[in-house]
Amino acid sequence: MTGLKRLIFLTNDDGIDAPGLEALRRQMLAETDWRVLVVAPDRERSGAGHSVSLRQPVYVSEREGDGMRGRAWAVAGTPADCVKVGLAALTDRRPDLVVSGINRGANLGTDVFYSGTVAAAVQGAILGIPSLAVSLNAHEGADFRLAARVAVRLAELVLYRGLPPGTMLNVNVPDGLPVPVPGFALTRLGSGFWLNQVQERVDAGGRSYYWLASNPAAVANEPGTDHLAMAEGKVSITPIHFDLTHPPSLDLLGAWDIPAALGRGGF
Ligand code: MN
Repeated sequence: MTGLKRLIFLTNDDGIDAPGLEALRRQMLAETDWRVLVVAPDRERSGAGHSVSLRQPVYVSEREGDGMRGRAWAVAGTPADCVKVGLAALTDRRPDLVVSGINRGANLGTDVFYSGTVAAAVQGAILGIPSLAVSLNAHEGADFRLAARVAVRLAELVLYRGLPPGTMLNVNVPDGLPVPVPGFALTRLGSGFWLNQVQERVDAGGRSYYWLASNPAAVANEPGTDHLAMAEGKVSITPIHFDLTHPPSLDLLGAWDIPAALGRGGF
């Protein structure tokens, strides 16, 4: 690898034309000598989670890029598709890092199960590449510049230090942070979730349909959580592993003696 510039694989779930991705790409090109390969959905795929496109073709089309510093591909697929297809077919080199973002809107607590931003980084981790997901806790009029600077610094640190196998970092940046930044918090996922409010409407044909409404999260700002870090105006960094096993429950269920209990069922 001597002499080769670092190769960063950049993706997102807001779509290839999203300002958060462009802000991050520009910041990487401005501050580093990295090659930046963009492989991102051709349209917004927020909420796609870790879905993949099966039994349908995944088309890719090249976008005008910056020439020498890396190519850009729009993918008619999900964020996880982008990482799978991108790594398999759109680069001869294994990237040094996968970065997903910058997402418009935070991805905290149980959001990680719905987030295409996080899923793309988890997919990178599954494929053995250190990965980051970066989200900004802002919606309208989001200014991604400071979050992009933070992301590039953290990417440099991860390239230097590496991450444990199968692990990615879920990074959330509060909106409107002052400089100097109030702090960086190493966190765990909080247990807050979006209130499950579904609005029923009726279409022109008289048929009911539903909007999954975006209502404020039911958040308990417990110590050490990503939610609390946001509430305190700190950048939140949560290490996530794709192994979702819950070890305390393994102990608990061990006491059930499931093999014996099911064995008595006669099958
Ligand atoms: Mn999104």
